[in-house]
Amino acid sequence: MEEKTVDMNDMESYLMDYDVLLHKYFWDITRDKIPYELLRKAVLVEERQNGIREAWTLSKAQDAFLTAKKVYADGTVDHLGILQLTLEKFIGNFVGIEGMERLFKASYFNFEWMMHLEYDPDRHEYTKYRDHYIHQIKNMYEMLVLLDDYGFMEYCIKAYQGKNTDISNDIERSIREQIRCADGEEEELIKEIVEEFISGQTEVKERQQQYYYRYLFHAVAVISALIHDIGYPIAFMLRITKNLHEFLPLSDAFLRLDDAMPHLGEILQESLLYRTVDPREIADRINRKRDHGSISAVILLSQYYETGEIYHLSPIKRMAVELSALVVYNHTLKYDYMTGEKGERYRNLFCENPISYLFRLCDDLQEWGRVYFDISKRSNFLICSRCHMPATRIDEYGDDSQIYSCGCGKDFVRKTKLSYRKLMNISACDHLKIKNRLESQSMVITFGYDLVTLLQLSLYSPQFAKQRADDMYGIKRMLEEQGELPRIYIDTFLTNNPIAIKVKCLERYLQKHGAGEIYRSELFVAASDFMETDSEKPKKEIVEELKRQFDQLKDGWGLSDISAIVEKLEIVADEGSENTYFIWKRNLEFYAFMVFVGGNIKQIRAADKLLDRKCALAFSYQLADEIADFYKIQDRPTRTLIMDYIWQRVREVSFEEFNRAKQHKEIMDYYRESSLSTTYITNTVAEYVGSDAYDDVKNAVQIERTAGTGLILKRIEGIYDFYSDYELFASMARAV
Ligand SMILES: [Zn+2]
Repeated sequence: MEEKTVDMNDMESYLMDYDVLLHKYFWDITRDKIPYELLRKAVLVEERQNGIREAWTLSKAQDAFLTAKKVYADGTVDHLGILQLTLEKFIGNFVGIEGMERLFKASYFNFEWMMHLEYDPDRHEYTKYRDHYIHQIKNMYEMLVLLDDYGFMEYCIKAYQGKNTDISNDIERSIREQIRCADGEEEELIKEIVEEFISGQTEVKERQQQYYYRYLFHAVAVISALIHDIGYPIAFMLRITKNLHEFLPLSDAFLRLDDAMPHLGEILQESLLYRTVDPREIADRINRKRDHGSISAVILLSQYYETGEIYHLSPIKRMAVELSALVVYNHTLKYDYMTGEKGERYRNLFCENPISYLFRLCDDLQEWGRVYFDISKRSNFLICSRCHMPATRIDEYGDDSQIYSCGCGKDFVRKTKLSYRKLMNISACDHLKIKNRLESQSMVITFGYDLVTLLQLSLYSPQFAKQRADDMYGIKRMLEEQGELPRIYIDTFLTNNPIAIKVKCLERYLQKHGAGEIYRSELFVAASDFMETDSEKPKKEIVEELKRQFDQLKDGWGLSDISAIVEKLEIVADEGSENTYFIWKRNLEFYAFMVFVGGNIKQIRAADKLLDRKCALAFSYQLADEIADFYKIQDRPTRTLIMDYIWQRVREVSFEEFNRAKQHKEIMDYYRESSLSTTYITNTVAEYVGSDAYDDVKNAVQIERTAGTGLILKRIEGIYDFYSDYELFASMARAV
């Protein structure tokens, strides 16, 4: 498949349309060539193999609906049909291992509210939990997409086959045994398929082998995805009981806490997990680290070992349980190489355990539509429909009233007496794009972060983007040097810097709405013209030179007619908007220049010098200073954010550069670090959005309105605040 957008809507139709029979038996055969008789036989074999007895019921559906509605109060409840689909089609028809349905219960939702709000007494913070129940289904869907549509099934089979490791050997043995003891009907069916379509090319035995490999990896994908986080509520309870014990040591007597590990170690000793991992490591990760991956893995195994059911499963189904447990156990391992910290074991390598690697990757990619709770004391802002400027607080009077005002001077009174904190469902990334670039044997995965959400988050939760960017760093490290896989380039725009976000809003808008040339394709500022001799610093004249070139280009961008833009954006002009537009026009000029500078940074003839980190930083500082001076910007936060923006653009690495660079150290460093932010910048963002610069703009506009003195420009000189042009840039982002 060339390109695919992974999101909630696609998931629903993908899972609905997923044809189990086709993927199981006829994966390389065109559907309409399959005789009806053969399909019917396949259905019969399937029906007998499906060990799931428990059905989805109305009362289950109702419970899930009512709880999810309470916990998330968002669109989640519109998609709960996928629970039934998952249970019946994937756990049932596809995997068919008896008892698996017990581990995929919608009562998971019951714990999510508490886990979202868990308090961490050591860090004096709540824990920033993300949803995990629907997330498990999303992981399954991603796994299936990569396995079936992007060739990962073949990569996996190839990587295990003929390798002499415990895992590979176990897989091969289970397939051998399965073929030996397979029931006649299944063998008969595969034989008929071979005769009908591929006789002469493939032996029956070979087809059987392929069939079982494919069943195994599909089953492992489904099982491990759907249960990999079931240990989360236990890890949560363990943390709570630990705090309880510190608070009241006697509480243990009431809670009857047994150490389950010795018993588990005993009954699970034959499992693949306990044979390949030191049992002491497993016990330590559960008892001391309260690691949910290890807990989930052990729960899965004990479901089958405690009752002895494991010994009654067919060899291939048993293998699916064993391998899934290992995959789940591995998914929370911290890797030395990935995080740069002292890790517990080793780096996740595709060649060592492909399906485990693939699973961890899918888990990390599953950010789209994921909900975090965040709590903010910052109040909402309203946009005045007349002047399109936000109303923010100017005054308090009395006990229970607060006055808000906007640019046109309209007053709003808030009468809420109760103090409050706001609980927000944060979900910033709405889709993932997967793209094959066959010509370079690589793939591009794009995280679709929504610009309007990012812009709002810089106000309500500036640390969000920083944390996500830190995680992105881990993903990029994980993808490096996986020889047997195509190279995967991660493409994302993610920052908490509102100036950088607004530039991006404008840039995408210009690209979409027929602006002429945005960047110059040729070099336009020669190194000797703008770098000081024997120094890393650009000359003072650089901004003037850039400005000169910008002025030649910008006429083609259609930004001079602000009313036309506003009309295109469907912002309804009203009396009182005139002064707002005046300011927007001025701000657009500033942001357009930033688009131009940022987009051309790589073209500056000294770009090679920018590969040197020290030089690049000095350059960013200096250039930002010059720009800030040029626009008469005085305040430190704004200047710092301009610098951060330039620095981000210097570090931008395109797909082409990434591909060319291979392991070129500086470029790879930039690539990993793109989007990364520091605590200093995060604090600066908070300062910038919290400053009272907007009040100055508002005052100027209000005075101008009544007096018409033409003072407006003078008064807002050097102010480019978060609020005044919020509506403009948010509308641009929405219009793309
Ligand atoms: Zn207004």
